[in-house]
Amino acid sequence: MTKIVIVGGGAGGLELATKFGRKFGKKGKAEVVLIDRNASHLWKPLLHEVATGSLDAGVDALSYRAHARNHGFDFQLGSLQDIQRDSKTLVLSAMYDESGELIMPERHLNYDVLIMAIGSTSNDFNTEGVRDHCIFLDSPEQAHRFRTEMNNQFLKLHTSMEQKTVDIAIVGGGATGVELSAELHNAVKELQNYGFKDLDSKKLNVSLVEAGERILPALPPRISGAAHQELTKLGVKVCTNTMIVKADKNGLTTKEGELIPAQIMVWAAGIKAPDFIKDIAGLETNRINQLVVKDTLQTTRDENIYVIGDLASCTQADGSFVPPRAQAAHQMASHAYKNIVAQFNGGQLKPYVYNDHGSLVSLSRFSTVGSLMGNLTKGSMMVEGRIARVVYVSLYRMHQVALHGTFKTGLMMLVGRINRALRPNLKLH
Ligand SMILES: Cc1cc2nc3c(=O)[nH]c(=O)nc-3n(C[C@H](O)[C@H](O)[C@H](O)COP(=O)(O)OP(=O)(O)OC[C@H]3O[C@@H](n4cnc5c(N)ncnc54)[C@H](O)[C@@H]3O)c2cc1C
Repeated sequence: MTKIVIVGGGAGGLELATKFGRKFGKKGKAEVVLIDRNASHLWKPLLHEVATGSLDAGVDALSYRAHARNHGFDFQLGSLQDIQRDSKTLVLSAMYDESGELIMPERHLNYDVLIMAIGSTSNDFNTEGVRDHCIFLDSPEQAHRFRTEMNNQFLKLHTSMEQKTVDIAIVGGGATGVELSAELHNAVKELQNYGFKDLDSKKLNVSLVEAGERILPALPPRISGAAHQELTKLGVKVCTNTMIVKADKNGLTTKEGELIPAQIMVWAAGIKAPDFIKDIAGLETNRINQLVVKDTLQTTRDENIYVIGDLASCTQADGSFVPPRAQAAHQMASHAYKNIVAQFNGGQLKPYVYNDHGSLVSLSRFSTVGSLMGNLTKGSMMVEGRIARVVYVSLYRMHQVALHGTFKTGLMMLVGRINRALRPNLKLH
């Protein structure tokens, strides 16, 4: 039986595993295996909400094992270390517990078709001190670390006479930095209702630092302008044209030598594929370690290896690259599915064309701004407020529908509403 192995159960990989499981695994037409280094899935664009406590990861996370059982695929917990292309074998690293005791030895797993979907990590561009002093928002663990440090700082402020403010500096004026800045102000407002009566927005100093001339550079200037204005209104200090050259325990240092003092620093400026991908199995990679693919989403040097999502370097007809976005991962998962089925049946593989439906940025409950693209809008159309919020949330709903189907997603939305009435607005423990 053909063995389809997907590595990485994120925005793209889990949707693809679910589809193959339902259509092939359940019917015994192929063996479908998903490998992930974590035991549960949390949609990455939710991480800034986990970081501030607006979202409880424990409620939204999905167990891979339970999902695999219901959708006809096998789940293997493990971290990819290498690919041996000659024998079509994957090498998964040995796993150890927190005390260093071996849980699982190094394992080898064979495949017929491999889909790589391990996403990306933050790119610190080798900036001095960043790895030691900044938090990256790449995984739920890192989001939890941020939340713990933030809560500790608020507790210190609440009880100590010396500390007057909580200073948080975020590097990178893309969607992650912008959304996190706004979400932090929401968290402060909510915390006032939960025993931190003396806390107010004036005691929270958020600096959003961007090297380019405007925040949200991927969006039209009028949208960046609107987001900039909203953030300033909230009290966020937006510093554009500001290059960071160093991070240390006191804060961030700019190229001009100015110190941006901060107790907590987040680095969200750019992405790269994990370093071990750079030399993996003689496959072609680009300067940020992404695997180079043809327009069919097959790697340039091995047609049995497909790549989807942030890990793929995929050039479009106009020479641009598919951006690292959840909507691209979602589309690539559907496209790879069709091409792999065509490959099995000896059919024609089709080129993937990125369909940009626009980008929305959530400024927490204060506002949502963005642009919509498509036939209806005849180009890009700026949206704001309620409509923008609905479209923003719909990207996550599409992901949920791909995983659970429409009925179950409807039930989940209902449970979400009930939880909002029953549970506190912030995760407090
Ligand atoms: C805070 C934040 C907000 C964002 N907001 C938006 C947004 O509003 N809209 C948007 O379009 N995009 C947004 N993005 C980007 C979006 O999250 C990514 O483009 C998308 O998740 C990429 O999907 P993926 O499937 O390629 O990888 P991911 O979703 O990152 O999944 C990768 C998976 O691979 C697993 N993995 C990693 N390494 C290994 C390994 N060695 N072995 C086994 N498994 C491994 C990981 O555990 C993970 O499950 C945001 C990102 C962040 C961080």
